[in-house]
Amino acid sequence: MQLGDLRIDPIVDGEGRFKPMMSFRGTSEEDWAPHQDLLDADGLLPFVMGGFLVRYRDRVTLVDLGLGMGRLMGIQGGAFLDNLRALGVAPADVTDVAFTHLHEDHIGWCAVDGTPTFANATYRASAADAHHFLEVDTTSAETRVLQPIADRLVAWEAGEQLAPGLDTLAAPGHTPGSTIIVASSGTQRVMMLGDVVHCPVQLLDDEWGALFDVDPVLARQTRTALARELEVGDALMAGAHFPGLQFGRLIKGEGRRRWVV
Ligand SMILES: [Zn+2]
Ligand SMILES: [Zn+2]
Repeated sequence: MQLGDLRIDPIVDGEGRFKPMMSFRGTSEEDWAPHQDLLDADGLLPFVMGGFLVRYRDRVTLVDLGLGMGRLMGIQGGAFLDNLRALGVAPADVTDVAFTHLHEDHIGWCAVDGTPTFANATYRASAADAHHFLEVDTTSAETRVLQPIADRLVAWEAGEQLAPGLDTLAAPGHTPGSTIIVASSGTQRVMMLGDVVHCPVQLLDDEWGALFDVDPVLARQTRTALARELEVGDALMAGAHFPGLQFGRLIKGEGRRRWVV
């Protein structure tokens, strides 16, 4: 996707698909009937792990780093670096890594065998998540994965600008420091939602629950406020696990919002 001089490409690390009723506990086939366009030919919900490559001026930024050489929820990671190279970018070319949050399926490629994968990059995360995963929840899988880059991790405070054309928008709830990363050029905006929204269906209906939110009540408030704001703007957006990492728009329709890619 091209926004003026700013270019964004999805980078897939691994893909899976799930029964939609298992992904969103408490939902029924009836609930999913209006959302068949989000499901594949077998009626399953595609789920991607990966990140985004943002190229603008002299900055080469990765937003999230996928799962790495592991397996989680039946999804095998491992394709990230090959897919990055296919876009003409070597690990040494990356100037910045920015994490929407520090869950293990977003930080997987931090380091390989204890050596930072992106040797010339500044790694950045919200101060709230850095504190949570490096100082509070220190027995987590995340702490172990982050260890090799902990001393080069630069923390941002909510609302800080990361680079020209890249801003942060605090969206806590999924994790304490969950952040939406906003790329902009001129009047155009693209929002990388991280896990604030796991599936476009959550932007359509305020009542849908989520997977794995640390603070479900706050996470729902954050999502509802976001959907209300986005349905009246023309920003493009994508979550970190949306099918195909495709960007779409939220359109306010008669009585309900629509998701359009
Ligand atoms: Zn997450
Ligand atoms: Zn995730």
